[in-house]
Amino acid sequence: MWVIGIDTSCDDTGVGIVRDGKVVANRVASQTLLHQKFGGVVPELASREHTQVIDGLVERALSDAGIRLSDLGLIAATRGPGLIGALLVGLSYAKGLALALGKPFVGVHHLEGHLYAALADHPEVEPPFLALLASGGHTHLFQVPAWGHYELLGATRDDAAGEAFDKVARMLGLGYPGGPEIEKLAREGDPKAVPFSVPLYDQVGYEFSFSGLKTAAQRFVEKGYTKPDIAASFQRAVVDHLANVVIRAARDTGLSTLLVSGGVAANRALQERLAEAGLRVLFPPPGLSTDNGAMIALAAWRRWRGEGDSLAVPAAAYVPLAQG
Ligand code: ATP
Ligand code: FE
Repeated sequence: MWVIGIDTSCDDTGVGIVRDGKVVANRVASQTLLHQKFGGVVPELASREHTQVIDGLVERALSDAGIRLSDLGLIAATRGPGLIGALLVGLSYAKGLALALGKPFVGVHHLEGHLYAALADHPEVEPPFLALLASGGHTHLFQVPAWGHYELLGATRDDAAGEAFDKVARMLGLGYPGGPEIEKLAREGDPKAVPFSVPLYDQVGYEFSFSGLKTAAQRFVEKGYTKPDIAASFQRAVVDHLANVVIRAARDTGLSTLLVSGGVAANRALQERLAEAGLRVLFPPPGLSTDNGAMIALAAWRRWRGEGDSLAVPAAAYVPLAQG
């Protein structure tokens, strides 16, 4: 079955196509340049831009997959969380497509999409497993006992991991998004040169905290440490913090498979650190860590049991995947 997935939750328009669980097209139109001069995402501009590009992206994704609209068997779109106006563009488009084609529609939780991206190359993996979602807006650790069941073990008390990368990058005069910029600069620096301490080192739970690292980074900039050393040492502290929490959760729960997703999952230092942890760690393939439509199609395909959702499914700015 061919499944199309659409994500317009924030500032990227994503359209992906999956055939029998395999990604065959993944088109993303980034709005980074559009919002850059405002220092953040402007919701109204984001919605307008989604409206303008979505049709063309769907056409390109179909042509990448070598199919026509009528070949689609299932239409999926992100229903939330995200910017409400932005979400409405993709969700309404998908519902209209489903209605016009007479095909079923599925509304997908954005975080569930991120999570399934880590399974894109591993169709054989089944729960139970741990899932770490580290993105621009979330740092959540879930225990997943069965498909569709998400138990929140812990989340960030303050900033999200990706947000911390973005803020520290800005402090260092680097571009947005900050994660890839810091990762690049870190290669020229010494990860032990700047004394960042690892957050919540002694906690018994599974929480995260990144705002202290951000404040510390500001202090180290003022003290005159070099930018590459700050980038490398900051990244080391973030990676150590994430690794400490997930390794302890794996030990406490007895689970040995870990899915890592969200933009921060693209970080090589994190990938290398977790690979040494003695767990089976699965990351999204390149291009599927940050927002995209293919992950939404993957989630819809994994959850498909022969029945679509009502077209009345609303877009929602806030909708939890699981209660803690
Ligand atoms: P959410 O899904 O929580 O609403 P989002 O969709 O905006 O947030 P993503 O697109 O998953 O977030 O990820 C974007 C974040 O990932 C940015 O904060 C970015 O800096 C970070 N990021 C991207 N690549 C890397 C990298 N190589 N290393 C570290 N962080 C990265
Ligand atoms: Fe996202």
